[in-house]
Amino acid sequence: MRPEAIEAMMPYLAEQYANPSGSHRFARRARQAIDEARDGVASVLGCQPGEVVFTGCGTESDNMAIAGAVSRRGGHAVCSGAEHPAVLEVVEHLGGRVVGVDVAGTVELDELADVLASEPDVAIVSVMAVNNEVGSITDLAAVAKVVRRHSPSALLHTDAVQAACWLDLRQVTPLVDLMSLSAHKFGGLKGVGILVERGGPQIDPLIIGGGQERERRSGTQNTAGIVAAAVALECSDRERDAEALRLRPLSEALVLGLQSQLDGVIETVAPDRKVAGSAHVCIAGVESEALLYLLDEGNIAASAASACASGAMEPSHVLAAMGIQRDLAVGALRMSLGYPTTEADIGRAIEVIVPAVRRLRSR
Ligand code: PLP
Repeated sequence: MRPEAIEAMMPYLAEQYANPSGSHRFARRARQAIDEARDGVASVLGCQPGEVVFTGCGTESDNMAIAGAVSRRGGHAVCSGAEHPAVLEVVEHLGGRVVGVDVAGTVELDELADVLASEPDVAIVSVMAVNNEVGSITDLAAVAKVVRRHSPSALLHTDAVQAACWLDLRQVTPLVDLMSLSAHKFGGLKGVGILVERGGPQIDPLIIGGGQERERRSGTQNTAGIVAAAVALECSDRERDAEALRLRPLSEALVLGLQSQLDGVIETVAPDRKVAGSAHVCIAGVESEALLYLLDEGNIAASAASACASGAMEPSHVLAAMGIQRDLAVGALRMSLGYPTTEADIGRAIEVIVPAVRRLRSR
């Protein structure tokens, strides 16, 4: 977590512990803290405070947007094939349509237009702002144009969970009806999500009960987490441009450093199509799982874009949708840089990754 966020939330874990829904003065103070956090979040996102709904995580925000739209409006949901499972699995579960992606993992606009033109009853279209595995940035203005033209009554949702650190969301919010965020992706507490619902209630709530969050999301609010989320979002908004400038050469140096010492290291997405903090490569002749084990031993925390399903290494659905061959996709290595990353970290990562790959290839 960002230190500023930890500091801001501490009082709400101790002396300001009151339930924000109560009527006494302590509760009113907690409620005021949530109101101020809502104002702060709204100003970074470029929306009205009343359009900000605090939820329990990014997954919940995504589920609420899609299931809530289909529940309220009937009809189908449509999404891209590179969405996070928090979107993709809901769309598939509800019998919706999945649209293909290009080599960078961003939605194919022509295919989206064809699907929307052939489908009279679209409740919601969901297209992510930044891909969580490979870091590619979607041109949401272009997506919005296609959606408004072919399905003018459909809602447009974006999963912006991976975008908050890298994009000025004030430019994204006006393009969409619904937007999901997750606090721990920008230095807040885990277990706090945000759903922006523009222009008043558009969808059914997912969680009903006590009527908190103006009936949009019942359940006692996580006051400390909400306060931390607002502070973390404000920090990352303030530092975003400088951080992107600082980290872009570092992520490029990481990939180039690996490529200069190893054959068969393919950069998955071209630097000009992705966010500065993403360094994703596919390494020929290795399997991610074995590589991650060696990296972990060398104190490098990275991840693979593949999940282990029923004992067999299954390449990630994102890489498969991008058309990357299975034998290359199983060697995916997803490395992320953020505000604590330094130049020294990049050198150390290269020092550990290169011998690990050589060792696996010599087996
Ligand atoms: N959407 C994207 C793009 C993500 O990267 C993630 C988390 O990694 C989520 C949704 C889910 O967020 P949460 O873990 O807060 O439920």
